[in-house]
Amino acid sequence: PGTIRPLIAGNWKMNGLQGSVAELDAILGSGAAGKGNADLLICPPATLVAGFAARAKGSQLAIGGQDCHAEASGAHTGDIAAEMLKDAGATYVIVGHSERRADHGESDAVVRAKAEAAWRAGLVAIVCVGETRAERDAGRAMDVVGGQLAGSIPDGATSANLVVAYEPVWAIGTGLTPTSEDIEQIHTFIRKNLTERFKADGAGVRVLYGGSLKPGNAAEILALADVNGGLIGGASLKAADFLAIAAAV
Ligand code: PEP
Repeated sequence: PGTIRPLIAGNWKMNGLQGSVAELDAILGSGAAGKGNADLLICPPATLVAGFAARAKGSQLAIGGQDCHAEASGAHTGDIAAEMLKDAGATYVIVGHSERRADHGESDAVVRAKAEAAWRAGLVAIVCVGETRAERDAGRAMDVVGGQLAGSIPDGATSANLVVAYEPVWAIGTGLTPTSEDIEQIHTFIRKNLTERFKADGAGVRVLYGGSLKPGNAAEILALADVNGGLIGGASLKAADFLAIAAAV
């Protein structure tokens, strides 16, 4: 809503081989990037970032990473620096996805350091937050998200360097979504939180919804107040579904 241009971002997670370039080509061939009402971003696994970025060059489709290390280089076997993603042609990186927080024990402090690394490298950081089912059932969803925002977002956020993704953990990959009222409540809360902390710079930060977004529910969810696009896992793997969601904005 308003003057914020939405972002539709696909998170491929640990899916995709070289042959998956066919899905990228379908997105590029559709001409949807740069048209329509939203910016488009695909975050493939690290092995595909450079190839996808090279192929998407000259288009308006952005390519991003799914994680980065806080350091620029060094003895961190298996990790990828934000600078490496930038060098490979990425312009965004997801940090603090709930799967990283759960599988790799990433704390808010770690996520914050990764977001700082993204900025150091010149990438837009997509900082993910969201409560578990137990936290929601206990009435703590806003408390939890507020804590994550405070702990995971570095000082100096602007609409040009930060995207926030609200992804309730229990909605990811489950086919479940919060009610529209519950989504709006949290998104309004996140917007208020960002504008209180970052003033005018927080007002334009895109706040994405993520968690079982699909073509069938996208129009309703993406029209909600303070929802400035979506982060899409499963439904981003097929170009047709991703494009259908983008067209629903
Ligand atoms: C995600 O992991 O960012 C996500 C939203 O997954 P899904 O769309 O599959 O629920």
